[in-house]
Amino acid sequence: MKIAERQELKGPSLTIKWALASSFFIFVVFTIFSVITYKSSVRLIVEKERENIERTVAEVANRLSNAKEELTVSEVYERLKAPSVDENDLTNKKVAVEGSLMEMDNMLSELGQPALFLSVYDTNGTLLFETQKEKNVLVKKAKQTAVIKTIDDTTGFLIIQPVFSQENREKIGYIQGFYELSSFYDIRNRLLFILIILEIISLILSSILGFILSSYFLKPLKVLRDTMDTIRKDPQSNIHMPDIHSNDELADLAEIFNEMLDRMRRYIEQQEQFVEDVSHELRTPVAIIEGHLNLLNRWGKEDPEVLEESLQASLQEIIRMKSLVQEMLDLSRAEQVDIQYSNHTSNAKQVVYQVFNNFKILYPDFAITLDDDLPHEEVLGIYRNHFEQLLIIILDNAVKYSTTRKEVHISISKTLNEFEIAIQDFGEGIPEEDLDKIFNRFYRVDKARARNKGGNGLGLSIAKQLVENYKGRIDAESVIHQGTIFRIYIPIIEKNKTKEQDS
Ligand code: ADP
Repeated sequence: MKIAERQELKGPSLTIKWALASSFFIFVVFTIFSVITYKSSVRLIVEKERENIERTVAEVANRLSNAKEELTVSEVYERLKAPSVDENDLTNKKVAVEGSLMEMDNMLSELGQPALFLSVYDTNGTLLFETQKEKNVLVKKAKQTAVIKTIDDTTGFLIIQPVFSQENREKIGYIQGFYELSSFYDIRNRLLFILIILEIISLILSSILGFILSSYFLKPLKVLRDTMDTIRKDPQSNIHMPDIHSNDELADLAEIFNEMLDRMRRYIEQQEQFVEDVSHELRTPVAIIEGHLNLLNRWGKEDPEVLEESLQASLQEIIRMKSLVQEMLDLSRAEQVDIQYSNHTSNAKQVVYQVFNNFKILYPDFAITLDDDLPHEEVLGIYRNHFEQLLIIILDNAVKYSTTRKEVHISISKTLNEFEIAIQDFGEGIPEEDLDKIFNRFYRVDKARARNKGGNGLGLSIAKQLVENYKGRIDAESVIHQGTIFRIYIPIIEKNKTKEQDS
């Protein structure tokens, strides 16, 4: 089958939308992640640097505080070289000296950091000691906690610590520390650069991956769309969705679509068949009436006998046509019943007894019996009028196709969850090969004879349609020239489930 030309989409395809959505999502997630990583790393590094300078300045201040009076160049040098020890503690002296040496080593290495500019001043602000030759002008003669400042185009932590003598609590000088943050800025910039590169890579990768994955997962959807498009352009085409083995919603969709398609095609076929059957059925009475009218037109109207006969015959055909139209209407209503009447119920005994009594009155020459095996009333899941219509169709046939033995036996019983009614006659019977066809529309075993009896061949198809709408069944058993039994099974509704009882 030629696939009709594909119709263009009005907007971007789902694949593109999916790819864009997934990359946008990854972009947002990654950006949040990057911002958090960046912020917390920066804060951590800054805190570490601050601690570093504070510790160094505090340590230097501690050593210088051992001086008794105003700091001098030599005093500062001495104090920094030989840290404070408790000189009276002789027992610990050795340990203390060793400890001090180690401390001294530590101190020296800390003071030797290239990023650190540490200077010591006396109370007048005169420089006494410096670790480097730059940034050694005392910014102010007051305590300054570590703050970020720019001195000579360099940004770093500035800290000023006044030194007090331990002995007399007098201010004896100042320490100024400046810790250059250039390496921190380097690290920060590198981190930013890496995060941006990673973000771009993840964006590209997620777009590509999103595109590949969505193309893969949405492939069946494209096939479904193309199939639908083909059917739209060529409703007569016989194509189906190919099987999808992904076992997901799309596979389900394809299956549902195929089922729908089959049902629709069956329905269209039935409709076509129906229209064909109807026109075929109507042709005969129309032809008969036409024949009679022609006859009358030519010479019959002069002859009262022919006139009478032709009028009678035409009237007969019109009655037949009327009943045919009524039955066709019934059939089409029966086909739409399932949604409308799905909640309706009826009382089994009540309806059966009523129809049984009516038939006894209508056909007094028939021996109609009812064998009731139901211990008590049962509620059936069928609309009362439809149940009645069903019984009338079968009983009508039983009477209509009876021959010499004018008897009809009805029996009602139940199984666990089904009501059963059997209607038996002792008439002409149905040949075995016709048994499975009698429920088809317009099917009559003996066309000529059925015509005489007024049958259109629609009764049983209405009955079958009705009973199946209510999830019931109907079947027939027959022996030719002996009789026929029709059995109908209808689901019983449990009493506590009955919503709406139609009695
Ligand atoms: P009709 O209007 O012709 O009776 P139905 O659909 O009711 O149409 O029945 C279809 C055909 O089945 C009938 O034409 C008849 O040949 C056969 N049939 C139905 N019921 C019986 C019966 N009780 N005994 C013998 N034949 C029957």
